[in-house]
Amino acid sequence: MYVVMDTNVTDKQVDTVLGALHHFGLAPRREDSEDGVVLNTDGDSPREILGSIRAMPGVLQAGNLWPPYRLPARRHQAADTQIRIGPVTIGGERLAIFAGPCSVENEEMVYALARQVKAAGAVGLRGGAFKPRTSPYSFQGLGQSALKTLRGAADENGLLVITEVLDTRHVEMMTQYADILQVGSRSMENYPLLREVGRSGKPAMLKRGRSATIEEWLQAAEYIMVEGNNNVILCERGIRTFEGLTRNTLDISAIPVVKALSHLPILADPSHGTGLRDKVLPMSRAAVAAGADGLLIEVHAQPDQALSDGAQSIRPEQLIRLMTEVDGIAKVIGRRC
Ligand code: PEP
Ligand code: MN
Repeated sequence: MYVVMDTNVTDKQVDTVLGALHHFGLAPRREDSEDGVVLNTDGDSPREILGSIRAMPGVLQAGNLWPPYRLPARRHQAADTQIRIGPVTIGGERLAIFAGPCSVENEEMVYALARQVKAAGAVGLRGGAFKPRTSPYSFQGLGQSALKTLRGAADENGLLVITEVLDTRHVEMMTQYADILQVGSRSMENYPLLREVGRSGKPAMLKRGRSATIEEWLQAAEYIMVEGNNNVILCERGIRTFEGLTRNTLDISAIPVVKALSHLPILADPSHGTGLRDKVLPMSRAAVAAGADGLLIEVHAQPDQALSDGAQSIRPEQLIRLMTEVDGIAKVIGRRC
């Protein structure tokens, strides 16, 4: 268990709490840092002990797990996680840029986009086969045939495939086609799905829930990792705020906050983060400047005719400019595209 003391706690109060912990048969360790005093013991303690300790003067908080996640925490692993998939490393010096259509609409578009995405310097092809649409009457995706298309187009161009898994029943089937299973924003709290993705052993990209705090997001990552899958990539894709001029508010500050709390790599998705094509470039620059390990970008040759998310899809020629500008920013902080 842990006990976080008040910032203005006195030594006497700390000694009293230490005495109480010894009384309960525990062997507390005192940790002093610039954030204050924390007392730790091995293992968990029952509710009764936590209640008694919480009620003591000078105690701010007491609980069994702090931070409320373990495996994604920097405290658990100090070194950055690097995820190697074939020739690509996610979380290394080179930024991992994934680009492609929101939804796979037909073979021709995906094969053409894959060539353009590769030529622009991306490492992976994105595309939805199973779409989490707000309305059941909206385009739901082409399913397994879209996965075959993605795999074929990616292989022809030496790209990785990242695609969203919506349903626990699809996980095993999708591992045959995808290099990275994307867990979408709406599914961040689908705990059986998180566990199943964990059990699959496939690298997973976990998007932040639309209304999730960073701690809730990292706890969702723990669901995947607790099943033995450490290859988790986080993706900040914007949260719901009172602002109506953008689809979501891309929380750029989440990037350095997550970097401090967790060793997992983090991407940014400025397409869903803003909902606006002309904001994708500036927010890509911002995300990379803030320390993102890569980007997830929606691209469409005729965005006005897209079956989903056309308003936020950039054109292939805009991706080339984006990659060039982002590379310039990356070099300033010792990275590259
Ligand atoms: C997507 O990437 O196409 C998608 C549906 O994203 P999100 O889960 O962030 O809405
Ligand atoms: Mn989309």
